[in-house]
Amino acid sequence: MLIVKKFGGSSVADAERINNVAERCIEDYRKGNQVVVVLSAMGKTTDALINNAQTINPNPPKRELDMLLATGEQTSVALMAMAMAAKGVSAISLNAFQVAMHTTSAYGNARFKRIDSERILNELDSGRIVIVTGFQGVNRRDDVTTLGRGGSDTTAVALAAALRADACEIYTDVEGVYTADPRIVPHARKMKEITYDEMLELATLGAKVLHNRSVELAKKYGVQLVVRSSLNREEGTIVREVTSMESMLVSGVAVDKNAARIAVLGVKNEPGIAFRIFDLLAQRNINVDVILQSIGRDDTKDISFTVDQEQAKEAVQALKENKERLTIQQIKEEKNVAKLSVVGAGMQSNAGVAAKMFEALYDVGVNIRMIATSEIRITVLIDLEDVDVAMRAVHDKFIHEK
Ligand code: ADP
Ligand code: ASP
Ligand code: MG
Repeated sequence: MLIVKKFGGSSVADAERINNVAERCIEDYRKGNQVVVVLSAMGKTTDALINNAQTINPNPPKRELDMLLATGEQTSVALMAMAMAAKGVSAISLNAFQVAMHTTSAYGNARFKRIDSERILNELDSGRIVIVTGFQGVNRRDDVTTLGRGGSDTTAVALAAALRADACEIYTDVEGVYTADPRIVPHARKMKEITYDEMLELATLGAKVLHNRSVELAKKYGVQLVVRSSLNREEGTIVREVTSMESMLVSGVAVDKNAARIAVLGVKNEPGIAFRIFDLLAQRNINVDVILQSIGRDDTKDISFTVDQEQAKEAVQALKENKERLTIQQIKEEKNVAKLSVVGAGMQSNAGVAAKMFEALYDVGVNIRMIATSEIRITVLIDLEDVDVAMRAVHDKFIHEK
């Protein structure tokens, strides 16, 4: 079997954990498998590197930031190869350039275009464990790119697809995918299985246990994933197309604290205004999520929407530059908000899910500021300070009560 095993930052946080991961990989290797290991940067290294950058320049050039962040993963793969060598196993570390993992040019948010499998396959054939840097790629100028925070999962899935691996295992600091973040809702339940679609919604809506693009890629290429703990041998959660379980009304609750709310006040109440505002943001690659339009004073309207915090500055800047053309009287930005979502394929055919969610929030006195729905999710925007209480209340309404 060819197995891709990915270990996140906490799983390789110190020498002891690196040795533990090395042992686990060697175990599979000794059973006669070909093993490709994908690693994240150690512990909170990426955060520390970002801090370093900002101390030097609060607005670092994106190319240089990627150049810096990529060093985190390079450190872990080299140390892992050394750990394996010390245990008498032949291993080789490779960065994205050495593999040739080609991405788009978008620094900080690059997407894979093509992965050369030749080098890795040659190394595997000569009996080595291959250890690859997660989170990074190279663009067509041969510059280093990164895939966005949490992107190592995507590296693992992309490699599993390119190498036609028999298994893709994502090892992390929890035992699998839970009905809610187990750090916020301690009694959340571990799921045995979850579909790609549900996992994709959860990941996109803030459950960072998997990078959302890794789920997108897994679905596209039919890569079955297992999410499990690097610290024990518990079974974990399988992510695949269909699950054998009956689809539940609500499979999980997710929270995204990385949201910012932007309000555009007093725009003319006439056709085409919303189009021009959101087209402007789309042209700058700014993703908008929850949107609310309301009537303002004197035949004007107010439009509020959420974006990721990293994009808020750029969004406000773009709107300011076009204030007159878009007939905007005032722009407001707010960061102390969070998105709370319930996700479940079962809600398509079930009325009353929204009502039940709002009831749970009412029970704990949490105010809803905006609402968005799709076929399999309901999202509300709430104050950041309410998040933990709200998440537990909503989770228990759907998942404990059954
Ligand atoms: P890694 O460094 O291994 O990639 P991450 O920190 O990116 O780990 O993701 C694992 C974390 O995701 C967990 O520690 C947990 O707090 C969080 N998390 C959020 N939602 C969920 C969920 N539904 N199930 C499991 N973990 C979740
Ligand atoms: N080290 C990167 C990050 O912290 C990538 C990852 O952990 O997946 O975002
Ligand atoms: Mg992660």
